[in-house]
Amino acid sequence: MDRFDRQERIQVDGESWDQQKLLKSKVAIVGSGVLSQNIAAALVGLGVGWLSLYDNRAAKGRDPGEFLALFRRNGHAFAADSLRDVLLHMSRDAGTGEPLLRVESTPWKFVDPASACILGAPNLIIDATNDPFAERVLLDYARARNIPLLNASAKRMHAELSLDRGSGGLEERLSPDYHGKGQHPLTAGLIAGIAADEARKVLMPLGTERPIERTVRFNGLSGNLLGVYDELAQEKYDSLDLSGMRAAVIGAGALGNWVIPGLSQMGVGSIEVWDPDVFEESNLSRQLMATLHEDAVGRGKAETVVQVLSTMFPEVQYTVRAEPFEGAFARKPDVVFRCTDNWESTRSINDAAVREGIPAVFCGTDPTVGQAYLFKPGDNYCLECMFGVDKQIAANAQPIGCTAAPDPSVITTNMVAAYLGLALFERFAAGDAVPKNIIKYDNHLISQRLHYPYTEQSPALEGSCRCRGSP
Ligand SMILES: [Zn+2]
Repeated sequence: MDRFDRQERIQVDGESWDQQKLLKSKVAIVGSGVLSQNIAAALVGLGVGWLSLYDNRAAKGRDPGEFLALFRRNGHAFAADSLRDVLLHMSRDAGTGEPLLRVESTPWKFVDPASACILGAPNLIIDATNDPFAERVLLDYARARNIPLLNASAKRMHAELSLDRGSGGLEERLSPDYHGKGQHPLTAGLIAGIAADEARKVLMPLGTERPIERTVRFNGLSGNLLGVYDELAQEKYDSLDLSGMRAAVIGAGALGNWVIPGLSQMGVGSIEVWDPDVFEESNLSRQLMATLHEDAVGRGKAETVVQVLSTMFPEVQYTVRAEPFEGAFARKPDVVFRCTDNWESTRSINDAAVREGIPAVFCGTDPTVGQAYLFKPGDNYCLECMFGVDKQIAANAQPIGCTAAPDPSVITTNMVAAYLGLALFERFAAGDAVPKNIIKYDNHLISQRLHYPYTEQSPALEGSCRCRGSP
């Protein structure tokens, strides 16, 4: 089984990834909305062996906010049952076609403390509802049984995550901020990536890693996405119409598999997808769109992603470019996303962005870090200034020893980087100021900081650059 091969190469503080531990874990997820859908998708990617879904929400009609539920509904009355089918489909072995993981669903509402007994004794409970009553019932149940509880909430422009391990912390979190509010795909995707990362730390901690002890918050209205206080008016975002925008995405791999559906959820009218590669079995642990396809292994990445998304978002106009990006667009896009780990094509993206004045969103990851940056020509530094692209090309040209593990990658940090990039793009599209610095999520820092797992990072290069002339 090569499916989890890439993440099994991950080492943190000298300790190796233990896939068997994840395969033997059981996680209960309460809720079936877009937040649950994203968290569950990430846990399938990680290879958590047994997922149990609980919710009595009726399956809705076509709603772009639904995400995975758009993929297929199979005529189920309950959204949780539809989600179960999609997750089983995603977890199929590339060879046998049989699901590698166990996924169950129960149409259920947590109406009183006794109703929580149905949860049994999973290794972790994740509350992905915005429902105060469920939150209280689940907290009491988890504490009584000594089961860790992750509580995730998301609404338009805001999301947060807390972990309770019986020693307090979550009670203060049971605030009315999210109650009754609709979940939103962008904030849900971001906090789901962090929630799945924290779930993995609870189930399989590596080295000195510790799960979060304080509430983690995301604020799309704050100048750097990090602040607690709202600085912008939300109304503008609620009425944002991106149907006239054209986006180009370079790379349909681990990052593109979240950025491309994210742009579709945002309602971007036209999306051009560039990637010369084909899907391999080892991509399936973190490339969501490939797992939704009937038979992605051996197929072109750009073509496959577009095929899946066309059925979910028929209103979006997609273009497939099954070739490496070498610096020329047939038609100038309104934004270009860097979703590749290839520095040569990053240089081509930066050249095109500087030359033609195209805003460029950089997304990048490693197993514990996800980062994003938006280059707005004439306003801040280009990708060469921020990331030292030429130096990276020179460094990567060095021969790699045969014992070195090539490109370990994990679904969670890719999700976080992709959604941070989308949040930056949304600010740009709304006409609001974009951060001058790189926004970086580091899962090592997450337990040490009060509110924010994110840090800001300054330019790598000083001196002159084409993007701003002489210093
Ligand atoms: Zn520059």
